[in-house]
Amino acid sequence: MNNPVTSHPKLVTSVAQLREILAGVRREGKRIGLVPTMGALHEGHLSLVRASKAECDCTVVSIYVNPSQFGPGEDLDRYPRTLEADLEALACCGAELAFVPADGEVYRAGHATWVEVGSVAEPLEGRCRPGHFRGVATIVLKLLNMVGPNVAYFGQKDYQQALVIRRMVEDLDVPVEIRICPIIREPDGLALSSRNAYLSPDARRRSLVLCKSLHLAGELIDQGQRNARVIAQRMRQVITTAEDAQIDYIALVDPNTLEPVDEITGPTLATLAVKIENTRLIDNCLLEPKR
Ligand code: AMP
Repeated sequence: MNNPVTSHPKLVTSVAQLREILAGVRREGKRIGLVPTMGALHEGHLSLVRASKAECDCTVVSIYVNPSQFGPGEDLDRYPRTLEADLEALACCGAELAFVPADGEVYRAGHATWVEVGSVAEPLEGRCRPGHFRGVATIVLKLLNMVGPNVAYFGQKDYQQALVIRRMVEDLDVPVEIRICPIIREPDGLALSSRNAYLSPDARRRSLVLCKSLHLAGELIDQGQRNARVIAQRMRQVITTAEDAQIDYIALVDPNTLEPVDEITGPTLATLAVKIENTRLIDNCLLEPKR
């Protein structure tokens, strides 16, 4: 598994082949890192691959557009699929294995088991996208069981998802370490996302209100504002400067429980989901009041 950095990852499409290869890697005492993705890879994904490369000997990147985490009327059918380019990108950062299972390989006939996480999966995305986290937790547990990694890497971009996975791994005694890596942004602040590809140039410009409103929340806290309702209201004003922006939620919550906070007394997560021209974007920022 000591591929030079420019060689393509080994493409594996069956669970049986994946297990066989990884059994060999494990026998050599090597550490395995897993980066689960839905493809259309960008620098955000690649930052997770680099984090895995830095501490594991064999990095497995899964590419699978998981149907069970999409609700009716969501973008499953038009989700970008760019396998060739993804493999090129993975070659550049030296991932050893690309696991690209076919649908029938993942949800086999008769599949009837689902992972349902409580509490942290319920508010915010859980409320807006019923069944989403059930699909996410199920596919991630399946991937963890298929790969058996020592470490699995997730982005803070999907903050709630990372908390849901942490909860599941803790509750179900899954023997893996979970790492949460920082959000990678475009130079102008927009968080990288595969869904940014849907944005027209005008919507792309308007979408900057998300990171601007998070930036404002940080500034207000730095200036001493401690009232979460006031901060959320000011964030809302920034978002609504973008024509046709539809706000799913803007929330200031406890970063561990995701319960709403009234007064900012410690680390707080500002998080939001906004539709710009029918593209649903999410972003968040951890805010730390100075004492
Ligand atoms: P996805 O392909 O959207 O399911 O994302 C796969 C992983 O990449 C998830 O753990 C995401 O949180 C992470 N990710 C997506 N966008 C970013 C970003 N801009 N910065 C860091 N990680 C990201």
